[in-house]
Amino acid sequence: AAKNRGRNQVTAYQAHMSDILAKRAEVEAKLRQAIREKTITPYYQPLIDLKSGQLRGFEALARWPVGTSRSIGPDEFIPMAEDIGLIVELSEHLLRQACLDAKTWPAHLTLAFNISPTMMVDRLLGIRIVKVLGETGFNPRRLEIEITETALVRDINLAAKVITDLRQAGISVALDDFGTGYSSLSQLSKFSFDKIKIDRSFISALETDEKKMNIVRTMVALGKGLGIATTAEGIENPQQLDALKDLGCSYGQGFLFGKAVPAEEAMAFIQAEGQKQSNPIGQAQLRE
Ligand code: C2E
Ligand code: MG
Ligand code: MG
Ligand code: MG
Repeated sequence: AAKNRGRNQVTAYQAHMSDILAKRAEVEAKLRQAIREKTITPYYQPLIDLKSGQLRGFEALARWPVGTSRSIGPDEFIPMAEDIGLIVELSEHLLRQACLDAKTWPAHLTLAFNISPTMMVDRLLGIRIVKVLGETGFNPRRLEIEITETALVRDINLAAKVITDLRQAGISVALDDFGTGYSSLSQLSKFSFDKIKIDRSFISALETDEKKMNIVRTMVALGKGLGIATTAEGIENPQQLDALKDLGCSYGQGFLFGKAVPAEEAMAFIQAEGQKQSNPIGQAQLRE
């Protein structure tokens, strides 16, 4: 009987596994189609200058509108696009679209764009990015490329070359999700960054967690010591905002200011910000 039960369990497990694999293959096929048909598009999350409270720019975040019940986020479909070998194609489409959208914004606003770890092993990445800028006519000085720490450890020399290419073209480079990689500090001494983005995990509960407060204070000081601006990710309430302002953090991003929205809504956001700046009552409201 025990043997039978064991066999049944194995069969159940195999059925379960083939079910998972079938589902995965189905999602991959859909992703392939979405990339081919360019249905994945950039949304834009506002980036705020914490000192002035003014809009500084937007980060492009990829969104895949799937007509099913469960929506699939970039944390899931970007690695999948890497697996099926379509990340370069997807990224080029996203960057091109983002540059075209950002070109319609006032010229002082910047565009931040994420590069996935597997793309960092491409020796020509910097050149590819510059080519898209040329084709779309978007000013490199308005572009900021975000790279995660994991992207840097694969091939340090190659990563250094890509970063140098980007910076020589006038593009800024930010170290994303700072503090979550295993060798954050060594990255800072090896590469030249224009900005550090403090990971959201350090910002959540910052206002009540003294340890986190001390860590973030140290990260901001570290940025200052290196002459690098700091951005706090994931600001969700005014207490966190106040704390970060007090610590002297340069920029902020989070649901408190706004989620990532489609290009049309980003434009509406820009227009509303413009109204606030020229209207002192609006500004008082912003401070509250
Ligand atoms: P990331 O670059 O660190 O982006 C920040 C993530 O935090 C975004 O998730 C954003 O929606 C989320 N976020 C921002 N503010 C808040 C907040 O106040 N609270 C909470 N709970 N979350 C907040 P999203 O859009 O799901 O993106 C996840 C990751 O996927 C990104 O992390 C980035 O690494 C990657 N990604 C997104 N778009 C692209 C892309 O076009 N290309 C590549 N290579 N990666 C992308
Ligand atoms: Mg990012
Ligand atoms: Mg991040
Ligand atoms: Mg992240």
